[in-house]
Amino acid sequence: MNYKNITIAGSGVLGSQIAFQSAFFGFNVTVYDINEAAIEKAKTLFAKHKETYGAFFNDTARAEKALESLHYATDLAEAVKDADLVIEAVPERMDIKKGFYEQLAQVAPEKTVFASNSSTMLPSQFAEFTGRPEKFLALHFANEIWKNNTAEVMGHPGTDEKYALEVIEFSREIGMIPFHLHKEQPGYILNSLLVPFLDAGLQLWAKGVADPETIDKNWMIATGAPAGPFGILDVVGMETPYNLNVAKAQAGVPGMQELADKIKTEYIDQGKMGVNSGEGFYKYPDAAYLQPDFLKK
Ligand code: NAD
Repeated sequence: MNYKNITIAGSGVLGSQIAFQSAFFGFNVTVYDINEAAIEKAKTLFAKHKETYGAFFNDTARAEKALESLHYATDLAEAVKDADLVIEAVPERMDIKKGFYEQLAQVAPEKTVFASNSSTMLPSQFAEFTGRPEKFLALHFANEIWKNNTAEVMGHPGTDEKYALEVIEFSREIGMIPFHLHKEQPGYILNSLLVPFLDAGLQLWAKGVADPETIDKNWMIATGAPAGPFGILDVVGMETPYNLNVAKAQAGVPGMQELADKIKTEYIDQGKMGVNSGEGFYKYPDAAYLQPDFLKK
């Protein structure tokens, strides 16, 4: 074990999961957020994680112990005072992340390695603000970390490989399967594959080539995959493809505004947000693509 003390900065959806996972696997975890209200919100998430982990790992006592072991801080210097590793999971906004790293650089001990969980930004965009570019890299988790246990480890050109290897070891120690990217890549491995795949499905639908069920069925029968693009999109939720397509439209990509509008009027405006709202491209919990006869006709 290289690391013992882990600080998670930002205790929202992902930060709370990374913190709980690390505590569950025996690390000394401090949860940092901007104010008491945010910490209180996080405590509600941690109470839920305790139930989820207890059930998933079939060990309620260990989940209870993890919950009780968490430390909380709203003062950054206090939160990182003996940290071996800080994992940043603050909002996906350049200004917030930049401000966070500038502040962190002032107060973190020299030994501390910094890792960003950013999904869409690259470590090279922040390296200069960290004051220790050689000890800075991305450590990217997937939502529902306890079961979707990938950890993508990606440095920028100035990252010292030694720290990437330490972070890989840490990720293994908290039950992840690490993936070491040897170059910076927007979207890492997963989203480099997934985003164009989901886009291709949406384009077939938007152009009227086929309906979502037909597109999914074709993919599932032909490849043996357990879901097609629309089954996956329902898990992701409608917000993400909508925002991505609006951004592409603003960047001048033709056809994207029409696609964004179609998602909005046919799904978002009707409250069909995906699995979480009970309906998206499919109706839940008994989505058609999950039925045994879906692939037979
Ligand atoms: P979130 O909005 O749920 O949580 C962000 C947290 O950061 C909040 O608790 C907020 O109070 C806190 N915060 C705001 N400013 C802060 C600051 N200056 N210092 C410390 N904390 C601050 O966001 P999220 O969905 O957990 O995403 C966080 C990061 O994780 C993003 O970089 C995102 O790209 C990445 N990520 C998200 C997902 C996902 O599915 N949500 C998956 C993988 C990676």
